[in-house]
Amino acid sequence: MRRKLVVGNWKMHGSRPANAELLSALMAARPFALDVAVCVPAIYIHETAATLAGSDLRWGAQDVSQHAQGAYTGEISAAMLAEAGCRYAIVGHSERRAYHGETDQVVADKAQAALAKGVTPIVCVGETLAQRDAGETEAVVKRQLSVVIHQLAHCASEIVVAYEPVWAIGTGRTATPEQAQAVHAVLRAQLQAATGHGERMKILYGGSVKADNAATLFVQPDIDGGLIGGASLKAADFIAICRA
Ligand code: PEP
Repeated sequence: MRRKLVVGNWKMHGSRPANAELLSALMAARPFALDVAVCVPAIYIHETAATLAGSDLRWGAQDVSQHAQGAYTGEISAAMLAEAGCRYAIVGHSERRAYHGETDQVVADKAQAALAKGVTPIVCVGETLAQRDAGETEAVVKRQLSVVIHQLAHCASEIVVAYEPVWAIGTGRTATPEQAQAVHAVLRAQLQAATGHGERMKILYGGSVKADNAATLFVQPDIDGGLIGGASLKAADFIAICRA
């Protein structure tokens, strides 16, 4: 049986006092019956690590460079994330694809760079509303994932996948449990065919998950938890999702 995982994506939110309050509430709410992690802005990773160290809560980054080191001003390498104890790095979030021009190949390179340093990439895939309306959802997510699978070859089973329909991110509009499950089933079949380990791999759902819709999503057979944006910033909401 796959253990569920809930990951908070703080995006570009937070401050030292707000983070301290949020993290201490999370610490106090333990234990959870599933794995819980927070992916925080890079500048807060060390402080987050210091707060969560020794607990069963994990932390991670929201991006990672595809390069190992060098003249890449502003970038952060997988080795640096590993040094800071990061368990996860989100790669290919739709905001990075849209605003930073990340292609499927760049996303695959980032996933490979993370894995090479022992950081688990949470690979995001998802269609836009126009693609869904055009009936292209399956083709889009399969294409996005296949580039990563191809690049990682025998290591592909080490990733976590997050299905995040672009039209549901930060919009308050959630995929119905049935819509999400249908795509998750497609992704799992693809992972199974490519790696032989699809049945044990985690596929998270992300897109306006809230305390009141988390349970109906997480109960779906191929939904192994969530990648949570807005609702991960409020301790009570995030804790409620972790308990859903
Ligand atoms: C996300 O940023 O990955 C996300 C799913 O955001 P939200 O939960 O706010 O839709």
